[in-house]
Amino acid sequence: MRNYSMHDLVWKNRGHELDALAEKMLDTGTKWILIGNPKEKEEFIRRTQDRPPVLDAAGSVKEALDLVREAGRSVICLYKDRASYETCRDEFERAGIRENDRFFQGEVFQMVYDVYRYGRIKLDRVEIFMTSRCTLNCEKCVAYIPYFKDRVVTPLESLKQDIDLLFGKVDYVFKLKLLGGECFLHPDLIEYVDYIYEHYHEQIGSIRIGTNGTILPSDEIAAMCLRDEVTVDISDYSRAVPALNKLEAVREKLEAEGVRTDIKRTGEEWLDMGFPVVGSKLEDETRLRAHFEKCAMFCRQFADGRFFYCCSNCSAVKAGLYELKEDDYFDFRRDFDPKELLEYELGYSRLGHTSFCSVCQGGSDEANPYHVEIARQMCRGT
Ligand code: SF4
Ligand code: SF4
Repeated sequence: MRNYSMHDLVWKNRGHELDALAEKMLDTGTKWILIGNPKEKEEFIRRTQDRPPVLDAAGSVKEALDLVREAGRSVICLYKDRASYETCRDEFERAGIRENDRFFQGEVFQMVYDVYRYGRIKLDRVEIFMTSRCTLNCEKCVAYIPYFKDRVVTPLESLKQDIDLLFGKVDYVFKLKLLGGECFLHPDLIEYVDYIYEHYHEQIGSIRIGTNGTILPSDEIAAMCLRDEVTVDISDYSRAVPALNKLEAVREKLEAEGVRTDIKRTGEEWLDMGFPVVGSKLEDETRLRAHFEKCAMFCRQFADGRFFYCCSNCSAVKAGLYELKEDDYFDFRRDFDPKELLEYELGYSRLGHTSFCSVCQGGSDEANPYHVEIARQMCRGT
């Protein structure tokens, strides 16, 4: 998830950073107003059915402001898009309602509430790195696939150990995404996904497999996707690589088998993360923390017992291009309090950023002004 509302993310009192915030969120005397679009409100209520606070869904920001002023309510703002969230927050701040006092970011509220009230840790999204094998060689791939020093295929045993470790310590993952490279090229994909589904499907909102739309999945893969309730995310590179693109055929085959698909329209441009080509280095700690907070990276990656805050950081390590550093991951191989993991998920760490932020131009428009064309190829795919 993207945390827009919490700042100064250096660990000073690990395991207790959110105590004061949680006290406000759990105050049974508080009456709450929800602000967001109808879908976001519906999702919040669905995910928080056993939640005690009185919830009113205000129809507009103005209505919410009146309620806050007249009835002393507090606000849960559900906008996921950063600009909408910040516009709304600024309106309330002008009315004297301060962020993290009587105004809270919805996704942060949910996570904190679950951990402090129920001792349940629910992660928004976890990615699993399957393989560096790919049919394309995109110059600005966020996983640095063309730059891998050696081809990597994560062994089945290692994948199973990781998934056991993850779900042994986490109650729920809303979105579990398998990524590469190209997932359909992993030789044990079917056995692995069957294993995940058999053991953990009750702890997963949605299992997703990413593909670049250049490979028609086998009948066996399609059957597994149906059996294991997988959604296949197909990236649309039809304009970038028209000769290799099979998006429509992939979709038709999967949908004919009853498999859910989600076409990932990648917009007009990608962000150029800079690494490993640009080589610029940001060293000032204050600027690094600001860069990290602007980026507010949403994708975590789990590999080798380590929960990386940033999936690009994890890929750079897997590629052999960047050193593995203790400050850049949360170690699942040791015992920990769920409150520590909650803090890490929200961005807390020893540095207040990942060390990799110093060589990365950023993973969001707020942090990174450099754009490039989608899926530009370095050379012919292999
Ligand atoms: S298709 Fe391109 S962006 Fe996707 S993993 Fe392969 S090289 Fe990276
Ligand atoms: S700035 Fe780069 S390294 Fe840092 S969190 Fe964002 S994407 Fe990851």
